[in-house]
Amino acid sequence: MSAPAGHRFHPTVLREYDIRGIIGETLGAADAHALGRAYATLLQGSGGSRVCLGYDGRLSSPELAEALGDGLRQGGLEVLWIGRGPTPMLYFAVHQLGADGGIQVTGSHNPPSHNGFKMMLGKGSLFGARIQELGRIAAGGEFASGSGRIVESPVFDAYVLRLLQDFPGGRELAVVWDAGNGATGEVLQALAARLPGRHTLLFAEIDGNFPNHHPDPTVPENLADLIRTVGAEGAELGIAFDGDGDRIGVVDGKGRILFGDQLMQILAAEVLARKPGSPILADVKASQALFDEIARLGGEPVMWKTGHSLMKSAMVELQAPLAGEMSGHIFYADGFYGHDDALYVAIRLLAILAQDARTLADWRDRMAPMVNTPELRFDCPDEEKFGVIERVRERLAAEGAEVNAIDGVRVLTSDGWWLLRASNTQAVLVARAEARDPAALARLKQQIAANLAAVGVTPPAF
Ligand SMILES: [Zn+2]
Repeated sequence: MSAPAGHRFHPTVLREYDIRGIIGETLGAADAHALGRAYATLLQGSGGSRVCLGYDGRLSSPELAEALGDGLRQGGLEVLWIGRGPTPMLYFAVHQLGADGGIQVTGSHNPPSHNGFKMMLGKGSLFGARIQELGRIAAGGEFASGSGRIVESPVFDAYVLRLLQDFPGGRELAVVWDAGNGATGEVLQALAARLPGRHTLLFAEIDGNFPNHHPDPTVPENLADLIRTVGAEGAELGIAFDGDGDRIGVVDGKGRILFGDQLMQILAAEVLARKPGSPILADVKASQALFDEIARLGGEPVMWKTGHSLMKSAMVELQAPLAGEMSGHIFYADGFYGHDDALYVAIRLLAILAQDARTLADWRDRMAPMVNTPELRFDCPDEEKFGVIERVRERLAAEGAEVNAIDGVRVLTSDGWWLLRASNTQAVLVARAEARDPAALARLKQQIAANLAAVGVTPPAF
């Protein structure tokens, strides 16, 4: 027997929630092929045999998808070839086709030179220790093999119909959509052609060079074109997507950005009216206004860890109908599959608006006024970041502070709250604070700085 040929991934590419790298530097077709062999070995080991494969609109995606498909096929799997589209279309395909797993080739919202893979095992995300396991299988080189095949399995039409199924009609809306030249473009064109009302599309041609703006709606500059066009068109709202369509960004008719935790207030109201008492999940970065509003609406607010894979798992466990992150990852289990499909979220938002006389700006006007910082990120080495948080937590415990430690420390004071947590994906610490007025916010920022200084970390300039 010949020794198996192992494959080593670049040490930086196997991350907590996905595989990600820079094409030609840390990631290439050989990695995609090895990933296919390793994934097939893992899936065969758990009794699975059919996997969906999709890819986003990046220039390097078709080549990576080919290599990945070959690896999966050589590993004995039936590969259901979904083709180009947003990541949530791949998730949909796994449900629709009853597959045992799925892989999307995608660099999400990252620069054109980046690419990567998001994976499902069964109907859940493949993440954390399982990604490391794929790395070990590849390095060992003892791959499962068999006579697999690749089967063209387009789901585009079924996906568009599924999205539209939950739009009940109502008041006609004027909407501007911005795909940012990302993978949502074609689906968006199909939706806009079938939805009633007036629809204006921006950058709906899929182009992996992202020639207009970067497809990341959490960065306000990337919403400038959308805000301008909403104003020029006199539209009621604007909706933007990240490069692979699992995060949403929304602006109202007055050009105000609604972040994920504000959008969630509107979405939660509709779900809780039909399902009173349900748990609704939001991440530790979310505004207190959201948790208060969920409680006021008769729901059970649950603060959870940031990270889309962690959020999806918790939703299943708690049987929550809705969950959301400030970053724009929003998850519907109510009427849907429980994953983060930003196109579906857009349809649900339009349904709420069309069925009600209030505009999005009316909803926004009624929200509790809060003064808060954006997400403040600053460098801290990977080997130190969790230790820093632990030392801050011990200090706060000694002081008798009111702390939620589900993910870092979220400290409640009479002024409001502040958060300090370690990122799971980068060598950074994340801070955020929120208060009722600017003076209170200044005191909270001072507390963050004082706690960091006390454990020997230079605080960032807020
Ligand atoms: Zn994304």
